[in-house]
Parts: sequence; C-alpha cells; structure tokens
Amino acid sequence: MSYAAFYRRSIEQPEAFWDEQARLIEWQTPYSKVLDYSRAPFTNWYVGGITNLCHNAIDRHLAKRSNQPALIWVSTEVDREVTYTYAQLHAQVQQMAAVLKAQGVGKGDRVLIYMPMIPEAAFAMLACVRIGAIHSVVFGGFASVSLASRIDDAEPKVIVSADAGSRGGKVVPYKGLLDEAIHLAKSKPSKVILVDRGLADMPMTPGRDEAYADLAARHEGVRVVCEWVEASHPSYTLYTSGTTGRPKGVQRDTGGYMVNLAASMKNIFMCEPGETYFSTSDIGWVVGHSYIIYGPLLHGMATIMYEGLPIRPDAGIWWSLVEKYKVAAMFSAPTAVRVLKKQDPAYLTRYDLSSLKALFLAGEPLDEPTAQWIAQALNRPIIDNYWQTETGAPVLTIANGIESKPSKFGSPGIPMYGFNVKLFDESTGAELTDANQKGVVALEGPLPPGFMQTVWRDDQRYVSTYWKSIPGREVYSSFDWGIRDEDGYFFILGRTDDVINVAGHRLGTREIEESISSHPLVAEVAVVGVADQLKGQVAMAFAVLKDASKAAVPADALRLEGEIMKVVDDQLGAVARPARVRFVTLLPKTRSGKLLRRAIQAVCEGRDPGDLTTIEDPNALQQVKDLVQGG
Ligand code: AMP
Repeated sequence: MSYAAFYRRSIEQPEAFWDEQARLIEWQTPYSKVLDYSRAPFTNWYVGGITNLCHNAIDRHLAKRSNQPALIWVSTEVDREVTYTYAQLHAQVQQMAAVLKAQGVGKGDRVLIYMPMIPEAAFAMLACVRIGAIHSVVFGGFASVSLASRIDDAEPKVIVSADAGSRGGKVVPYKGLLDEAIHLAKSKPSKVILVDRGLADMPMTPGRDEAYADLAARHEGVRVVCEWVEASHPSYTLYTSGTTGRPKGVQRDTGGYMVNLAASMKNIFMCEPGETYFSTSDIGWVVGHSYIIYGPLLHGMATIMYEGLPIRPDAGIWWSLVEKYKVAAMFSAPTAVRVLKKQDPAYLTRYDLSSLKALFLAGEPLDEPTAQWIAQALNRPIIDNYWQTETGAPVLTIANGIESKPSKFGSPGIPMYGFNVKLFDESTGAELTDANQKGVVALEGPLPPGFMQTVWRDDQRYVSTYWKSIPGREVYSSFDWGIRDEDGYFFILGRTDDVINVAGHRLGTREIEESISSHPLVAEVAVVGVADQLKGQVAMAFAVLKDASKAAVPADALRLEGEIMKVVDDQLGAVARPARVRFVTLLPKTRSGKLLRRAIQAVCEGRDPGDLTTIEDPNALQQVKDLVQGG
C-alpha cells in the first residue's frame, strides 16, 4: 500500500483504521465502539474494551518467547550486564507487583518512580500497570523542588527509589534529595521502597522506608495476575514543562497507547518480533516510556536499557552493543550524536553493524552537519522524528515500514497516520496552506490513540492550555513553529512559548526563573534559551539584584553566579542549571511590563532583536548586549 493511501484512510476513516490496528494487541473483552468523540476534544478510544498493558508486554509472549531475551540491562557505570528472558522478566515483575500490593497499592493508586536506569525501574513500571496502578516516573536528574511539586500533584501512595545513580563514574545520591522532596511536599507517601545498590548511604526513616530486597524476599516466585482494566484506564502520568512554572501531568490511557505503540514498531521502526531494540533515552522521558519499555516489549522484542555515557569507557560503547546484541533499530538524540562527533570516527567502523536497519533521532532539532556526519559514518538511514511527551509517539517522520521514502536533511518528515497536522498564523488564526509559510504546528482532532488523555486531574487545564491558544480555532497547539515545503515535509523552527530544549531535555524557563528568584539577593530574573553548538540550546539567566553593589566587582559577581547555579542544582537538578547567570540593573520590558524574552534571546544569539517600539527603556537591552559582547 502507498503511504499516502494509508495516511488518508487514517484521517478520513479513523475508526475503521484504528479498528484494524487494534488487532495488534490482545483484549480480554473486545471493545464495543472504536471511538467516542462526544466530549471533544477529549477522545475515548476503544470504549468497553478490557485489557492490560503488562499482559500485552509480557504474558502474551510467554507461550512463544519465554526463553527469548526481553530486557537487556547494560551498565557501564557499575560494569554489569544482565539479560532477563521474557520468563525471567515475568517473574521479576510479579515479585515487584506483589511487593506493591502488600503495601496496599491497588487499581488507580499512584506510584512515583524516582530511579536510575536499573532493571528494578522497569520492573516497577511494568508491575504498576500489571495491577492497574498509575506510575509517574520522575527523571532521576531532577532535584528536590522539582520532585516535590510532582509528588504533590500525583499524590503517590508509594514511592519507589534507590540509594543512588551514577554518571560518568561519579555517584549521584538520590536518597537525600528524595527525603528533602518528601519533607517539602504536602502530600506524604505512606511507603518508600528503596533499592540498595550499595553506592551511597541510605538512612532509613522507620515506618516509612523499606528495603526492596527485604520486601521482595517475602514474595519469591509468586504469581500476581493481571488486573484487567478499561482501555481508558490511565496507565501513567508523566510531568512535562510548559509556559507556567507548574509542570503538567500528561495522562496516558491504556488501550489506545498500546495500539499506537504496537503499530509504530512495524510501520515506523521497521522491527520484527525477536529482534533487539536499543533506545539510549532515559525512563524519565517519554521516549523511555514508549521505546525503552513498552513499544519493544509489546512487539515481542528484546530491549536494551543502558546506564552510562555514550563515550565511556570509550566512544565505541554503543556500537559494540549493536554488534553484540544484533540491534535492529536504535533510537537516540541529536545531542548524543554531536558528542560522538567530537570523538575519533574510527569507533564507528570498528564493529559489525550489519544488523542495524536505521538510527532514529528525536527530541530536538537535528542539524544538517550532524545528520550528514552520522549518515556517512554509519552508512544507514538516519530517521529524524518529531513528537512530544503529549503525543506519546512520533507525529512527523517517515513510515518506511509502509512505504520507503527519502529523508530530507533538516526535516523530521511528513505527518504520521492519525495526525492531521496543520499550520496556523499565531495572531489571526488563519490556516496556512501554501508551501514555505511559517506558522504554529497544530493538530486537528480527533487525536489518535496513544495521545494524552488530559492533564492529570485538570481537564480544564488541558483544554485551556492546548486547545484555545490559536485564535478562533479548536485545534491542539504543539507550541512549535514550523513550515511545510512543497513536498509536504515539515521543518520545525523552535518553540512559540517559554519552553527551552537543552540536550533534548524540555525545560520551562519559568521554573528556572522561580528557582533563581528564591536566592535572597535576587530581585528579578529572565531566563532564555540560547543556541549552543553541542546541546542545541542552553539556559542563560539575566538577574537584577536587590542591591546591585553585591555584584559590582567581577569576583563578587562570579561568586554569586556560582551560588545561584547551586540553588538551581539543588532545587531543580543540574539539567536546569543556566550556562551563565549575568547581572543587570534592569530587564528589557514593554511599557506594560511584559518581559521581552525573545529580544534578549535574539541579542544573545547575535541576531536582530526586531521591533522594539514598545520597549520601556532601551538601555536594558543594551546592558544585555554589552555583557554578551564582553564575553
Ligand atoms: P518532549 O515533550 O520533552 O519530548 O519535548 C518536545 C519538544 O521537543 C517539541 O515540542 C519540540 O520543540 C522538540 N522536538 C522534539 N523532537 C523534535 C525534532 N525531531 N525536531 C525538532 N524539535 C523536536
């Protein structure tokens, strides 16, 4: 079938299309209706269908694949590799599920997972969905304030964590940050289950904290049956940043998510059951949910979970894993490729990569030099794909599993089946149908299965944030700028809101501003994302002090800059740390008091700041310019 026909059917006859795709998974009770769109823009896919995500990811494969590798854990941080077959994964997940149940976790309860990239993190996710609990994984790089706000929103009954992670051989203790987060949070978990890796001290709070090993010992070899849930039952929430400081809990269903992921494994990733998939992401991000854990397992594949850096012990590590485990599809981020590009290219030719069909990259714009370099070095298709935490799976890419199409450098590709992608003028709401016009990338409903259901416990916020931002239109705004060329390929040109993307990590500038403002000497601050050769973007902060004399001499300014960075590290995590904190005496604002972030960003990137007729005091922008030019 041509991709055009496949795509057209998904848009024109979504129910028939997604009815067919739903055969990729097992239903305990078949659904009575494919889609209920009576509460638009909310979709309810597979109404009446009863199923279970863990059953489809593990149990259903046991008859054929019990001795086949399911989860391959590789840690170059602690020098260990462990392979779990489907039967072994089944056993481990049931043991974790039994532990959670014994702590009173049941259907609909939330379990927050704050873990490094260790097998127990995967067991915990799968155990939650097995018993109908809703997991909320928080990226291990986040610190106490970020974690506390997520605890308060998710209100987990239980938190699963560990003593520490490790990065580049350096231990990153988790337990202290977790204790501080629980102390800050209003909502207290009844239990904290801790995996002790023996990496760091793990002081236990009596009555609340339990060692996983002790609890698990009581449930060796147990059977825990799957809790059958409605297709619309939430499988997880995952927090993501937006314009306001408060992170949003992106809520995902069960049935629709499974169908979309299962379909993507063949259509987009060209994978077969029994093959090996390697996503270098982290379980704290949506790519980790969809393509380290659920997608590959739903498809009966082996999945590699990697703890470590791409260049340790050397820059050949990932390719050595491709050779060793015969990886069929690999998924990474442009920043990782840019890191590798700085290393000896010989690492790429040292290993047998003949199993690898393609390298998929996502999470941030893929610049042409990086794409060219890796395409040449690997001699494999490099497939960019654009999506968001909200979308659950790729929105723009090429579906080579349906019909092979060329990639275009700089473009993630064309709309994927189920996604009616359009461009609108930000201020008038007019639809832009001509080629090469810049507009806001938007999606017309009904959105396909697997798309977020709502914002956790806040339907209104879902509608007002995503569906009301383009004047006169009831469409989902991605908050990304884009253009479409004459061949229908899209190009993504950055965010329309105050979200920045550092090394593929999505961060809200407001969150960083709030954190910096908590420093007692800071009166006001603006944080913008500035283009960076390696990380795509970095955060840059311009702060006004309550008393400017505190940073009057360079040594004081430098010390204060370090102090402020430490505040961000401690509260949000090092991922959110600005590259620089510079001091000014006033910030560029409009006469009505709106911060001119885009003008600051332009000046930092050496671009023309554009129309400044509304600026209150041009001297403010001049200060930024002087600092930037002064280095
Ligand atoms: P996240 O929700 O963390 O996955 O971040 C989603 C955002 O990352 C999108 O809104 C885009 O701004 C950016 N993004 C993701 N993938 C791509 C891509 N392939 N090309 C350009 N930008 C991307």
